[in-house]
Amino acid sequence: MDDQLHLGEDENMLALRRAWDRAMHTLANRVNKPSFESWFKSMKPVSFDGERVTLGAPSPFACEWVSKRYGSLVREVLSQHLGKTVEVTIVHVPPEKRPLLGEPPPEPPASAHKEATTVVEPEPPPFEKPVLNPKYTFENFVVGNSNRLAQAGAMSVARAPGQSYNPLFIYGGAGLGKTHLMHAIGHYVLQAHPRLRVAYLSGETFAQQYITALREHRIEAFRQKYRNVDVWLVDDIQFIAGKEHTKEEFFHTFNTLYQMGRQVVFASDRPPRELHTMDDRLRSRFEAGLIADIAPPEFETRVAILQKRAQIEGIQVPDQVLYHIAYAVEGNVRTLEGVLISIAARASVHGKPITLQLASEVLSRHYVDEKQVHAIPSEQAVLQAVCQRFGLTTQDILGDQRSREVLMARQIAMYLLREKAQLPLQQIGQMFGKNHSTVLHAYNRVKTSLNKDKELSSIIYDLNTVLGN
Ligand code: ADP
Ligand code: MG
Repeated sequence: MDDQLHLGEDENMLALRRAWDRAMHTLANRVNKPSFESWFKSMKPVSFDGERVTLGAPSPFACEWVSKRYGSLVREVLSQHLGKTVEVTIVHVPPEKRPLLGEPPPEPPASAHKEATTVVEPEPPPFEKPVLNPKYTFENFVVGNSNRLAQAGAMSVARAPGQSYNPLFIYGGAGLGKTHLMHAIGHYVLQAHPRLRVAYLSGETFAQQYITALREHRIEAFRQKYRNVDVWLVDDIQFIAGKEHTKEEFFHTFNTLYQMGRQVVFASDRPPRELHTMDDRLRSRFEAGLIADIAPPEFETRVAILQKRAQIEGIQVPDQVLYHIAYAVEGNVRTLEGVLISIAARASVHGKPITLQLASEVLSRHYVDEKQVHAIPSEQAVLQAVCQRFGLTTQDILGDQRSREVLMARQIAMYLLREKAQLPLQQIGQMFGKNHSTVLHAYNRVKTSLNKDKELSSIIYDLNTVLGN
């Protein structure tokens, strides 16, 4: 047998291949010959992280069948040969390792039909189509310098899933079109390759579903669901950072899909290197694919986006008005479109044409709303946010404890009370029973470390988001 490390293989994988060879001998003695020939012979080891093994079966049917009937046997035998208890997941791996790309799925082996005369064949699990916004297509996406790379990457991945950039990682600020591009990939793949299984979900959904599955002892079903997809689109993955179990599971799912050559696309509000709490293994994998950022659109792109949107909504808007909006609203396409829609709505309610004056009115109104969103947070809000982030109580932070964590939380609270809540140093000092120079010291320390200390900047970033900025 092949006992050498293969290219790109780690020690775990080598151990798994060896153990699997021996396990096959044991299995051959423990199940009847037709079953062994039909099911086990064509299975292959896919990945092993030291605790969890993934095996590949050549059809969804074989995968389901072996999991249901022989799952615990396989786990027992494999654990025995690996010398430790492992979990085993069986996934569908098409024989030539590539995604199906529209080919019909392979037939179950001939002897399967024989067996099926005595047992009812399970249907392969039906695959739920993802729910995608019908407006978020490539046709409706306006390309400019700010998003050109991300759009090209998305398009290339959609045309040939698993065969161009893998993984594709798109990042950028809120409202710049990340979700739009993810859905566009989904639409395109479902149309061009109807047999491919596409899953779209957010990091938050992944985390929630995983926790629910754990609680309800449905981990196996959860794994089957996401490890059997051809195109895995995960939006807002920053919400996965920091939660240990979930991160582990996420990494393992990603790894399994990646090793099988399935297409993976991630979107996040920050680049991989700033997903501080994200595992290094995961980050370096991200960096192996294409990382594309989306910047706020330039003026021309903003105008083009507005034109496109007006056209989609079937509303007539004078160019001058479009320019005016594009000039006034920078940074967030969602806001940009929101302004256009509210102008159109007001015009239609009052039966008036869309004029520059109406646009100005709505814009100034809109800005009032914007300001309210970014209202100055209260001292209570700041303290609460910091407590929550560190898992501490207000007494911990305001008291005298001197553990590293409490000290850090306290300094960050002081900094934010000054920076965000805009309280005078004196008043902050009183809250903590310290003099104003201690507060100033803490404030300066956080401020100067901000761009150097990754952990700190990530915390401040998260807190700013919570505090509405
Ligand atoms: P993100 O996920 O980055 O927060 P979204 O994808 O939700 O942003 O985009 C916000 C809104 O802006 C959506 O309605 C989307 O269709 C629109 N949008 C963003 N970028 C573009 C673009 N380049 N062309 C057309 N519409 C865009
Ligand atoms: Mg989004």
